[in-house]
Amino acid sequence: MGDIRNCPRCGKIFGYIGRPICNSCMQDEEDEFKKVKEYVYENPGANMAEVSQATEISVDKIMRFLRDERLEITGDDSNMILECERCSKAIKTGRFCDHCKDDMASGFKKEFGIGNKPEPRQEPDKKSDRDKMFTATRRR
Ligand SMILES: [Zn+2]
Ligand SMILES: [Zn+2]
Repeated sequence: MGDIRNCPRCGKIFGYIGRPICNSCMQDEEDEFKKVKEYVYENPGANMAEVSQATEISVDKIMRFLRDERLEITGDDSNMILECERCSKAIKTGRFCDHCKDDMASGFKKEFGIGNKPEPRQEPDKKSDRDKMFTATRRR
């Protein structure tokens, strides 16, 4: 509470409430985001430069919307290029492709010794159960 900052976008002083920019800039960004989203929705084949030109919003900003996973590239034949930061595969939103996300998640687990142990194998148990049942019926 009471944290006063300079808005990096417009330079105005504002009360910091967990957002990096001031309220009026937030509103501006929201409007810009809507503009981009609507354009992309209506023109799924448009590339980044076209979207930027049509909406008058910088490519950098559009990229940020995508990286923040607020915006998703629509259509499989889209010309919008967003690459996985790890393997450079084309992705639709966020920073990493699904494969790298999985990879990093399991790497993270390994690092902390979670999920590192081999899964207890079910096969032998099932088999011995079946054997038991078999001998049981045979005994009858
Ligand atoms: Zn501002
Ligand atoms: Zn990747």
